[in-house]
Amino acid sequence: MSAGVWGLRPIVSSGVRLACLDKDGTLVPDLPYNVDPARMELVPGAEIALPLLRRAGYRIVVVSNQPGVALGRFPESALAAVARRLDELCTGIGVRLAGFYYCPHAPRSDGSSCACRKPEPGLITRALAEHGARADRSWVVGDILDDVHARADRIEHLLRFGRAAEAAQRHVQPVGG
Ligand SMILES: [Mg+2]
Ligand SMILES: [Zn+2]
Repeated sequence: MSAGVWGLRPIVSSGVRLACLDKDGTLVPDLPYNVDPARMELVPGAEIALPLLRRAGYRIVVVSNQPGVALGRFPESALAAVARRLDELCTGIGVRLAGFYYCPHAPRSDGSSCACRKPEPGLITRALAEHGARADRSWVVGDILDDVHARADRIEHLLRFGRAAEAAQRHVQPVGG
C-alpha cells in the first residue's frame, strides 16, 4: 500500500473574505451627487465597525451606484478624488480600502438595467472575482434593500449600518445559513 496518504489532511484555506460596503448612507452620509472630497466624512460608528471588520479578517471594498456620471451631474473622472478621499478617511481610522467599485450608469426608462447597478450583482461578483474571495464567507453592507438584494450568489450574510433606512431589521440577520 502506498504510505503517507492516510496521514495527510487537505490543506484548507479559509480564503479571502470581503466586506462589500455601500458608500452613500452607509460609509459616508448621503449627499446626492456629491463628489467634493471636502464634504465627505465617515458616518458615526464607522471608526468602530471598520477596524472590527479588518481584525475579523475581512478585506473592505466599496460598491457604489454612481448614476451621476450617466446623468451628467459630474464627470467619471471626479470619482478618482472620491476614491482617494474614501481611502484617506479610512486610513485615518487605521483601515485600508481594498477596492472602490462603482456603476456609472443610470436607471433606464424601460426598467431594464445594466449588469452592475445595484440591485444587480455585477459590482459584487467582480469584486469577489478580483480578490479571489469566497462568496459564502463575505458580507454585503448597505442602507437600502437594493444593496442587500445585490448580494452575489451564495453571499449569505447581510448587515446594515448607517442611517435608518428601508432595510427591514430581519435583513440584519444572516440569511440562508
Ligand atoms: Mg446607500
Ligand atoms: Zn452599471
